[in-house]
Amino acid sequence: MSYDVAIVGGGVIGWSIASHLVDIRPEARVVVLERQPRCGMGSTGRAAGGVRAQFGTRANVELSVRSIREFESFQRLTGVDCGFRQCGYLFVTAEGSRLAQMLDLVAVQRDLDVPSRILDLEQIQQLVPILNVRDLVGGTFSSSDGFLDPFSVCVGYERKARAAGVHAEYGAEVTSLGGRVVEFCQNSQTHSLEADVFVLATGHWSASNAGNLGYDLPIHPSLHQLAMTERCPGLPGDLPMVVDADTTFHFRREGEGLLIGFDGGEVEASRDPFEEDPPKFSDGFLEALAIPALHRLPLLEAVGFATDRSWTGYYADTPDKHGIIGWIDDCVLAAVGFGGHGVMHSPAVGAAAAEMALGRNSSFSYIDCFSPHRFKEGKLNVEPLTI
Ligand SMILES: Cc1cc2nc3c(=O)[nH]c(=O)nc-3n(C[C@H](O)[C@H](O)[C@H](O)COP(=O)(O)OP(=O)(O)OC[C@H]3O[C@@H](n4cnc5c(N)ncnc54)[C@H](O)[C@@H]3O)c2cc1C
Repeated sequence: MSYDVAIVGGGVIGWSIASHLVDIRPEARVVVLERQPRCGMGSTGRAAGGVRAQFGTRANVELSVRSIREFESFQRLTGVDCGFRQCGYLFVTAEGSRLAQMLDLVAVQRDLDVPSRILDLEQIQQLVPILNVRDLVGGTFSSSDGFLDPFSVCVGYERKARAAGVHAEYGAEVTSLGGRVVEFCQNSQTHSLEADVFVLATGHWSASNAGNLGYDLPIHPSLHQLAMTERCPGLPGDLPMVVDADTTFHFRREGEGLLIGFDGGEVEASRDPFEEDPPKFSDGFLEALAIPALHRLPLLEAVGFATDRSWTGYYADTPDKHGIIGWIDDCVLAAVGFGGHGVMHSPAVGAAAAEMALGRNSSFSYIDCFSPHRFKEGKLNVEPLTI
């Protein structure tokens, strides 16, 4: 069987690309090859679901603006409700110099029509009464940000793409590609198929040392953990995602409890990041989290953690915290390296990669910022607002 495009990786990025390919060219013959038995079993199913346009570079803000627009009509487009709730994102800081930087970033965001604004302490306290604001100097808030269910986004794109004729091969581990042929192992047998274009959407397994498909991409897998609390009485229904920009402690409502993230805590250092499953959630995370979390959110003193519902997963980081969207070989396109923002940017990345794969002009103004060649050319553009 011969295809126009073969996509390796059935996470949110791979399936968004597939869906956008057949949106642009309905007759395109597209296949997605995924080694797991279902979609979204890599980092996608482990994400916190945050969606924000409060970034620091025009390139990332543009991806967010385009993506948020698509999430707003996701159910109509795909038939799947991804649970997108626009409760906003609130960034707070206790440091004057950080607030000055955040104010500059708000100017960039507003220039691209993001409704972000600066809040004083009284406004912050009004928005999130459970927050300790005593030592803060200010914050920023954007009402079009929010959160959703990452797995449902992946399923929505998968269903839409398959309904439009995209073929899926699950349990299919791709072992080599190039020269119009992709080889994969499925049910212990080697198979191959032909395609004009290949798209690499293999998340953190795209790192050059993953031993995966042999492409030299500067992707670093970094382990992150998310902790679920038990029920927290008295949570506001419209609680935004709250980020303490000084410590990276962040939380959002999940059911009757809170889902908490933080960049710190023990990890199993010896663990191979390219194994299928990430390490188990570690209690060391809760110990490291205790001081910043109890300080900013004192109600946690009376709330337990549900460690059996807490988890870990890998970001695919690049040196400048922008993803990679571009040609890495004659007929191989990469769409990888989206750090902690691959789910929120999946609609725009899907559209941008599909345009490239079909030889269209890009509809994105800042697409060059995602070029795979920027690393060798020394044209890095560092994203300052990451969590
Ligand atoms: C703890 C945590 C919190 C996060 N929070 C957020 C958040 O709030 N918002 C947000 O936007 N993002 C968040 N992210 C990041 C987000 O999860 C990723 O950016 C996104 O899921 C990347 O999608 P992907 O499709 O590129 O990768 P993946 O979902 O990892 O998919 C890659 C797929 O490729 C497959 N694959 C790999 N090699 C092969 C091969 N050789 N053959 C066949 N298949 C192969 C894998 O099995 C996998 O299914 C978070 C991530 C983590 C870990």
